[in-house]
Amino acid sequence: MKFTVFGIGSATPQLDKNPSAFLVQIENEYILIDCGEGTQYRLLEAKIKHTRLKTICISHLHGDHYFGLAGLLSSLSLNRRKEHITLIGPPGLIDILNLQFKSSGTILSFELNFIPTDNSDHKRLLDNGVFSIDSFPLIHRVPTTGFLITQKAGLRHLLADKLPENFPIPYIKKLKEGADVYDEMSGKTFLCSEFTSEGEPEKKLAYCSDTAYNTSMIPVIKDANFMYHEATFTSELKSRAEKTQHSTAAQAAEIAQMANIGMMVIGHFSSRYKEFNTHLAEAKEVFEATFLAEEGKTFTII
Ligand SMILES: [Zn+2]
Repeated sequence: MKFTVFGIGSATPQLDKNPSAFLVQIENEYILIDCGEGTQYRLLEAKIKHTRLKTICISHLHGDHYFGLAGLLSSLSLNRRKEHITLIGPPGLIDILNLQFKSSGTILSFELNFIPTDNSDHKRLLDNGVFSIDSFPLIHRVPTTGFLITQKAGLRHLLADKLPENFPIPYIKKLKEGADVYDEMSGKTFLCSEFTSEGEPEKKLAYCSDTAYNTSMIPVIKDANFMYHEATFTSELKSRAEKTQHSTAAQAAEIAQMANIGMMVIGHFSSRYKEFNTHLAEAKEVFEATFLAEEGKTFTII
């Protein structure tokens, strides 16, 4: 599982800070989370194969989180995409898109499956057998949700050189699924513990978009391997954070610490900051495994 940062900024565009957009890679598939203005350029720069982008999640309808979406979808259509896209976001999002497409006479070349979020409760929105996506309420000036993406545990790895030749394929399937196999012909039992090793463990990624200090999400994101959390301000501007319903770096770190997160990346920095050493220092004081979001940087989640 990988997490790539496409934008570290907030509110208005800055030359050195793109607006919010993040790419999650699970096996060969991509999930885009938020889609600020210009996100399609970031996808081009990163040479992302569009056909592998199958899911887009939008946290809320402030422009710095979704103004790039209509442009991206239009371009995919102009490129004659055929594969459907699952779009997850606030209920009003689909009306906004439909109005834009209607006004420009755009008929998408692909199916857009829209799943509305609900910011009143924690909800499972998607489960495709490989990963699931949940949304959970955040505290912000418009309805906003975070996302929890869970990559399911992989099958056990087969220790093929230990098995007899021509070992039946249905038996291999059972062993990989964690079951022991009894072979009537030979009267032998093949133990899963002897002929397989542990598969990839389950991995959880929590995305906490714009939010005021929010302890109510802790039970949902508890023990996640990775968390992205906004840190628009440093503690010096705590009252400004409260007023605008954003978080300080220290508050993000408190959440990470209480939720027993593996590692945290902070971003969504206010345009008033030219560097983020204070953000990093104050977060690390509470939660050591904090990293700064950087344009184009990829974090591997282990
Ligand atoms: Zn916002």
